Amino acid sequence: MALTHDSENLPSVAALFAEMGIALPPVTGETLVTTSPVDGAQLARLSQHSTADGQAAIARAETAFRAWRAVPAPRRGQLVRIYGDLLRAHKEPLARIISLECGKILTEARGEVQEVIDICEFATGLSRQLHGLVIATERPGHKLLESWHPMGVFGQITAFNFPAAVWAWGTMVALVCGNAAIWKPSEKTPLTALACTLLFEKAAAEFGDAPDHLVQTLIGGAELGVLLAEDVRVPVLSATGSTRMGRDVAVRVAGRFGRAILELGGNNAAIVTPSADLDLATRGIVFSAAGTAGQRCTTLRRLIVHESLRETLVARLKAAFASLTIGSPLDEASHVGPLIDGQAYDAMQAALASARAEGGKVSGGERVEVPGAGHYVRPALVEMPAQTDIVREETFAPILYVLSYRDFDEAIALQNGVPQGLSSAIFTRDVREAELFQSATGSDCGIANVNIGTSGAEIGGAFGGEKATGGGRAAGSDTWKNYMRRATNTINYSNELPLAQGVKFDIG
Ligand code: NAD
Repeated sequence: MALTHDSENLPSVAALFAEMGIALPPVTGETLVTTSPVDGAQLARLSQHSTADGQAAIARAETAFRAWRAVPAPRRGQLVRIYGDLLRAHKEPLARIISLECGKILTEARGEVQEVIDICEFATGLSRQLHGLVIATERPGHKLLESWHPMGVFGQITAFNFPAAVWAWGTMVALVCGNAAIWKPSEKTPLTALACTLLFEKAAAEFGDAPDHLVQTLIGGAELGVLLAEDVRVPVLSATGSTRMGRDVAVRVAGRFGRAILELGGNNAAIVTPSADLDLATRGIVFSAAGTAGQRCTTLRRLIVHESLRETLVARLKAAFASLTIGSPLDEASHVGPLIDGQAYDAMQAALASARAEGGKVSGGERVEVPGAGHYVRPALVEMPAQTDIVREETFAPILYVLSYRDFDEAIALQNGVPQGLSSAIFTRDVREAELFQSATGSDCGIANVNIGTSGAEIGGAFGGEKATGGGRAAGSDTWKNYMRRATNTINYSNELPLAQGVKFDIG
């Protein structure tokens, strides 16, 4: 039996899979038991892959790559298009699996599937736009070009909090670029990964001539991520997760001269200036800080508010946090679902204790009782006297630290004064402040928004951040170049052999 579902309150995983025309594979060997953050119920028992399975998967992916790279890119795009259509047809059951398994509220889970569909559209269009350059050459009768080629096996390690979208950012683009892909999803969200992969196999069957094992998934723990990081047959590896994980993966990949795309932790801030539209700012702040129960890499964790507004804004935010409905993510009325597990709850309480010890005044943050064994909390607002050690850390839970500033330079210094560099925002109606914030002397983050929160990026722009966020960029814009190798080509169509830089080397 693949399933040992022990909750009568949750929809059956088997039924949701059946709705999508797929089935959970039979269980053999080592097993991984998945539980739902919704109520702590056991969701499924799945076979775990061993490192030997991982090695074999890489060998199969190499074979798949050799066939796939020869398929014209626009044809490769058609496979991704078919996959997007399939997801459109199965959006609701897949969203429910995501809600059940990672605890995000249904509207956000549907948004996540929509993001995968959007990425499929983006990648399909991209499959007709992969392009190189023709560059002016200094030599007569010559042509100088840059062309782009697939890399080989694309490895991907992903986090629990975006169990489908982050995979699609990388893999859909990597596929149209001509790579084969291996995915090591979070051990906390293997069901979403299985559903995505089994649906992909259906798309491949409809496509007709895709090589076998073009997309494979390895179910298990960090050891499988380590395997991908160390194996020289995986020339490009994308890793999304904590900065701790990225620090380890980066060194392993660099040690074998691989390419790493790192998407790591954030510690995102919003500056609220005296001219801000406070209604708009309040709405933007509450969604960014409390949405997804504070478990987005782009979650708003620090508010840097002008001292003249602090009291008013804090009062508004306290009222807004108190009015949020905390409850099962499967209930359409809930704004905030559970934390992923008890460890996340403990980490949140430990952070609040540190904040208190460092002079913080905490409101909220307490456990909210919801039937079952899930870990539900009210988002916390913590007024801090300064940007202390705990404020400079990412705690993956809904804690919003409030800091105040007097002059704008101080606000920018606070915004940039943390190790991470993912997302940032400013709420202002002053064009000089907005422009400065987005200029070279403003925010040092990969994302810098004006009058919009720190979370909820669109797929069209490159996504990622600097410093301890890892420097990687996934998804939109020209990030496809991360998934390809560049070749510079010189062609001589003359009868002479002039050397570059005028070098003479005559023989005979
Ligand atoms: P995590 O680092 O615990 O795990 C992420 C993945 O890495 C999992 O698949 C895990 O098995 C694997 N892993 C862990 N240690 C590893 C190692 N040493 N070598 C190889 N693989 C290893 O992160 P999490 O708790 O799942 O996710 C939350 C974190 O992810 C937060 O820090 C969040 O900010 C970050 N995140 C970043 C982005 C982004 O795009 N920047 C997006 C989503 C999440």
